[in-house]
Amino acid sequence: MIIRKLLIANRGEIAVRIIRAARELGISTVQAHSAVDAGMLAVKMADEAVNIGPPHAAKSYLNIGNILKAAAETGADAVHPGYGFLAENAAFADAVEAAGLIFIGPRGDSIRVMGDKVAARVAAEAAGVPVVPGSNGRIDDPEHARHIAMAVGFPVMIKAAAGGGGRGIRIAHDMAEFEALMPQASTEAKAAFGDGGLYIEKVIERARHIEVQVLGDGRRAIHCFERECSLQRRRQKVWEEAPSAVLPQAVREKLCASAVALAEAVSYRGAGTLEYLYDDETHRFYFIEMNTRIQVEHPVTEMITGIDLVREMIRIAGGGPLSVRQEDVRMRGHAIEVRINAEDPARNFQPAPGTVTALRIPGGPGTRFDTMLYQGCEVPPFYDSLLGKLIVWDETRQGAIARMARALDELEVEGLPTTKPLHRLLARDDSVAGAQFHTRWLEPWLEANAHRLNS
Ligand code: ADP
Ligand code: ADP
Ligand code: MG
Repeated sequence: MIIRKLLIANRGEIAVRIIRAARELGISTVQAHSAVDAGMLAVKMADEAVNIGPPHAAKSYLNIGNILKAAAETGADAVHPGYGFLAENAAFADAVEAAGLIFIGPRGDSIRVMGDKVAARVAAEAAGVPVVPGSNGRIDDPEHARHIAMAVGFPVMIKAAAGGGGRGIRIAHDMAEFEALMPQASTEAKAAFGDGGLYIEKVIERARHIEVQVLGDGRRAIHCFERECSLQRRRQKVWEEAPSAVLPQAVREKLCASAVALAEAVSYRGAGTLEYLYDDETHRFYFIEMNTRIQVEHPVTEMITGIDLVREMIRIAGGGPLSVRQEDVRMRGHAIEVRINAEDPARNFQPAPGTVTALRIPGGPGTRFDTMLYQGCEVPPFYDSLLGKLIVWDETRQGAIARMARALDELEVEGLPTTKPLHRLLARDDSVAGAQFHTRWLEPWLEANAHRLNS
């Protein structure tokens, strides 16, 4: 089926990114927006815009009824959910299709299986992909929970089956802590995700976060190599790279093959990411979850492979087979992305909405800035603090880091604090230069370097 008009059910930088891909494909765009987002960049760029409700996301970007009504009224024939909001909501994918529209993403059933972190673990094991030692399913009764925690060995992670965005994860170091945390975790998960289901994983110490980008057409799947996102704060990614600087080629091949096997086992359609923890001493990797959507950090993969992932996902949703064969996916050079958030690093990364009074966007060789910013734009307090992503590419990792430092010096955002000062320090840090880090490296580094972030 040919897509003529695409409704974007998201905001910020990813809405801009989707409009760009659609325009290059000759597809016209309808930007859905909340009442407070009428002035956002994606609204200015889209062919049409439609108000889908009040500022609070529950009443607009999460309002399935209003989004479907906007699509019907504007004659859109497809909906792109972006990331966050309804992107991994199976009922939304089903509702879009039931309304006779194309959902730019996997089938609702695939989201149901792979978007549920417990069901995804089971699917991974069935496909022969190693998972972190832990519970085989949800843990329901306290006796069962204690038994598994003992078997796995402390420290253990208590995770929400429906968790995401780094939320819904707790660590218990011993049985007393475990018993205290379990009921709390369940109540919180129920409140935050509408699902109190929990599961347990062993804590993999000093692990790296390495993930594999896949594209599937429902029958066949390919991978586009890996990204490393080990620099995290509160389990949220801060700095991302492709490829990983530490993965031996033989391990890379095994890791990527496992991701393709799992994607094919669930007949995956669209763009997706399989996240793993990697132990660089034993060279073992463990599947942790799948994100059944485009990811924030997808540009680093685009930079090393030359594949436009958003264009590819729109094509696939339109019914086309994959336009790239595995043997044509090659990587070249090294790419790094940093997240520029409206947060104050000197105030414990407190969100800092406001008005952008002046803006200078970096440019030059190998430099890309995916952003929602323009001079004079308002950053409302209601949503995620991501303003933009600065992405650089060079032939070598060392060259990419130097280019990142240079591009960050060029970037100027005035009127509100951003995370740029953090990235300027990271781009000049010796451990970062040597890729000597793991998922729990950044937090103590932030404490040790707090004084340097205050200036
Ligand atoms: P990525 O791997 O693409 O960085 P994240 O897990 O950071 O993905 O999520 C991307 C966006 O989606 C963030 O804005 C995050 O807050 C949001 N998000 C992800 N999962 C959920 C969820 N289950 N509930 C609410 N927001 C989520
Ligand atoms: P989310 O859905 O919030 O993205 P993930 O399961 O992907 O949750 O985990 C987020 C981050 O938490 C990982 O990138 C990693 O840093 C850390 N983490 C998750 N599981 C484990 C584990 N078993 N051991 C150590 N760290 C973990
Ligand atoms: Mg994750």
